Amino acid sequence: MGQADLKAAVAAANRAIDQAGLVTLSFGNASGVDRSAGVLVIKPSGAAYAGLTADDMVVVALEDGRVVGGTLRPSIDTSTHRRLYLEFPEIGGIVHTHSAWASAWAQAGRSIPPLGTTHADHFRGPVPVTRQLREDEVSGDYELATGEVIVETLERLGLSASDMPATLVAAHGPFTWGPSAAEAVNNAIALEAIATMASQTLALAPGIGVMPEYLLERHFQRKHGPGAYYGQSSPAAEPRDGRPSEPGSGPR
Ligand SMILES: [Zn+2]
Repeated sequence: MGQADLKAAVAAANRAIDQAGLVTLSFGNASGVDRSAGVLVIKPSGAAYAGLTADDMVVVALEDGRVVGGTLRPSIDTSTHRRLYLEFPEIGGIVHTHSAWASAWAQAGRSIPPLGTTHADHFRGPVPVTRQLREDEVSGDYELATGEVIVETLERLGLSASDMPATLVAAHGPFTWGPSAAEAVNNAIALEAIATMASQTLALAPGIGVMPEYLLERHFQRKHGPGAYYGQSSPAAEPRDGRPSEPGSGPR
């Protein structure tokens, strides 16, 4: 993807998180990365979502965070995005929102347990929550520290960024990511949905345990595993479990 296409994709991703109802006031931003050029493309700070265009996007050097393209100031959360891109070479897009239910779990300091297949389709296990940032981290380079605590949380739990494309930052809100900005948006939408459902499920059945591991694995792997067969994907997709791989023949 060239830089013009990336800017258009990131503008579309920012409009999409707003249209999906994930943005409270102006809290939220989406970005994408061009690793061959060594840059990330992100929403400008404080701009309205609805009219965002490719030309509004800000281009920032991955290496040192300096602005190398665009006329507006980048999102204040740019350092968080940059830290995650530098840590996880497999991710291509990042979304941050203050969507209400995911933020409620973040404020409660609770990871979201896997209770059903919507969760398992996107997240391979509980969606983790970070520790609270310390005072020195908040008074220092706060946005960078926010990225650091996400990295620390995934490392501590032994999670890869592709198995767990989301983390809740304690007393703040969710960050999600994916192979592209559009996939990061999908994961942000899925996260808000499973956060809502988990809250309601636990209200109905406070003692319900997590879903069976075999069901979680089946759902995660059929979309993300080496033999993934969900959707209308590439002709290179291999048949799995004796199922034919022709488009339209798989479950959806
Ligand atoms: Zn925020």
